[in-house]
Amino acid sequence: MAKHSLDFWLTSEDLPDPENRVLLKKNGEIRLHYTENNMEGHQRLSAKLKNMLNHLRCESHMIPNTLYLGKKIPLAGTAHQNGTIRFGTDPHTSALDVNCKAHDLDNLYVVDGSFFVSSTAVNPSLTIMANAMRVGDHILERFGVHLS
Ligand SMILES: Cc1cc2nc3c(=O)[nH]c(=O)nc-3n(C[C@H](O)[C@H](O)[C@H](O)COP(=O)(O)OP(=O)(O)OC[C@H]3O[C@@H](n4cnc5c(N)ncnc54)[C@H](O)[C@@H]3O)c2cc1C
Repeated sequence: MAKHSLDFWLTSEDLPDPENRVLLKKNGEIRLHYTENNMEGHQRLSAKLKNMLNHLRCESHMIPNTLYLGKKIPLAGTAHQNGTIRFGTDPHTSALDVNCKAHDLDNLYVVDGSFFVSSTAVNPSLTIMANAMRVGDHILERFGVHLS
């Protein structure tokens, strides 16, 4: 079967939902609360691939792989948690300002994956790193530090 098949990886994205979150149980254990949403987007993406199969000289049927990392594998399989300390301009909907500084505190910056407003549907690490460098430049400028 492997010799005659071709794998495709389709990535779609859940839309932000405050109920999809990390919770602490009374005994201190971590629990993920998750309900999938935006399935229409996923189905459209899947249909798009199916329509392209003939052009790719592939058979026009797909065998669904039901392995879904966020669902079939428990907590350890969830790889792209983000948005727990979102950035934005409105303190009512974000904890950080656009420079990733806490709205309410002058000396607290957060530059990990939590600043995301929404998941990206792509791997997040490069964006996390780029943002950390952006915020670093902002902090240097704010304190008048010039690196030669
Ligand atoms: C299995 C798996 C595969 C992945 N593959 C990819 C991939 O291919 N490409 C990609 O872009 N992304 C991938 N990701 C996602 C990516 O790894 C994360 O999104 C990213 O590492 C998050 O970066 P972060 O800085 O927000 O947090 P982390 O990288 O989790 O860093 C948090 C750090 O804080 C430390 N820490 C925690 N608590 C404390 C404390 N109290 N005091 C001091 N330090 C503390 C932790 O030890 C850790 O070093 C993958 C994730 C997983 C789980």
